[in-house]
Amino acid sequence: MRSPIMDYLDDILTQTAHVDSGAPADYIPELAAADPDRVAVALCTVNGTVYASGDSDHEFSIQSMSKPFAYALAVEDRGLDDILGRVGVEPSGEAFNELSLDPETGKPRNPMINAGAIATHALIHDEPAPAVDRLLALYSELSQRPIRIDESLAASELATGDRNLGLAYLLHASERLSKDPAAAVEGYIRQCSASVTVRDLALMASTLANGGVQPNTGRSLFGRQTTRHLLGVMTTCGMYDAAGDWLTSVGIPAKSGVAGGIIGVLPGQVGVAVFSPRLDEHGNSARGVVMMEKLSQDLGLHLMEPGRPARSALREIRKETVEGEPTTIYVLQGDMVLSSIEALVHELVQNPPSTDLVIFDMSRVDEVLPVARRTSAAMATKLIDAGHTLILVDPEEAIPGFRDAQGRGMRRWTSAYLARHLD
Ligand code: GLN
Repeated sequence: MRSPIMDYLDDILTQTAHVDSGAPADYIPELAAADPDRVAVALCTVNGTVYASGDSDHEFSIQSMSKPFAYALAVEDRGLDDILGRVGVEPSGEAFNELSLDPETGKPRNPMINAGAIATHALIHDEPAPAVDRLLALYSELSQRPIRIDESLAASELATGDRNLGLAYLLHASERLSKDPAAAVEGYIRQCSASVTVRDLALMASTLANGGVQPNTGRSLFGRQTTRHLLGVMTTCGMYDAAGDWLTSVGIPAKSGVAGGIIGVLPGQVGVAVFSPRLDEHGNSARGVVMMEKLSQDLGLHLMEPGRPARSALREIRKETVEGEPTTIYVLQGDMVLSSIEALVHELVQNPPSTDLVIFDMSRVDEVLPVARRTSAAMATKLIDAGHTLILVDPEEAIPGFRDAQGRGMRRWTSAYLARHLD
């Protein structure tokens, strides 16, 4: 049976077929030769399942969608503080190839515009292999297949790369480039010339959605903090001078490339990729932007969407007799995040339990965030101080055991033990 998600992706292509504005990039001769009517979309969940439609096996160059991955590699190599001292994280509001550096700091404004990306490329260690080879190995790990450089495209861009060379010399003159300008630009252009499909890109994006862990291999390719930082930069700088429009209308961290690709990342849920070579005035795929808007709306991907209302962590309060003693049992459920733990604590504060013995039954609880762990431990201390005896039914041991200054603590029971002791 065909997945309804596949049918939905087909629909996205049909519904955006009328969008034929813009033109393929022509400042790189090879890109101008692209078939403008090719189109593809793919989505990969954090479980690693890929859905794709259209020309999903068609290869095109990764271009600026390489920038987030190169940046993450540089951050992992040198540490975030070192990189932040060399390349900013402020949106530039200018075109991707603008010849500009921050007048106050002299730093490139961010790693998603060319100036910052060339500087970033030069910061990637050439150990244990040259930076470009390390990047190719990374793309291949991310997409689970060998990724190669399109050599004729790289040559075509190198031959017409005066603007990027100009940027590199400018950076070099202000001591913002740690390599020879020509070598840095050549490496950067090769980084951009890797051939990928929307499937590859969806997998790459899903790794970012999954906190840096490739969902199928389970390999951690970037640290959680690096990934979070990178997604922040993609959110504010990934779509160049269209970043504000993008964040309000699509609302997901993203990066475009001049070959016509766009990747988007919804943290914790999904990576998406679209491809259509005609570009708008910002250098972003025109149909790609419309496809992304639709995906965001239909799939509820916008970051600022309040999400499903967090259910209260409190499923029910039962009065029972346990081992002959009157007892209040709080049955908890779902994910314990800020909003759900707040609802529980609010109830306990407003209507304190009337029995000495209090049981929290957590057998239906899924995930417990650190905020919930801290808050519930603090709440438990207060209940014990108020004279209550606490029993926790916590099969995952999500709440740490603790004792207060008087050595009083809470006991742990299993669900089976609780069931046996209900009178
Ligand atoms: N390699 C291209 C360049 O440097 C990448 C630009 C882009 O994709 N926006 O011009």
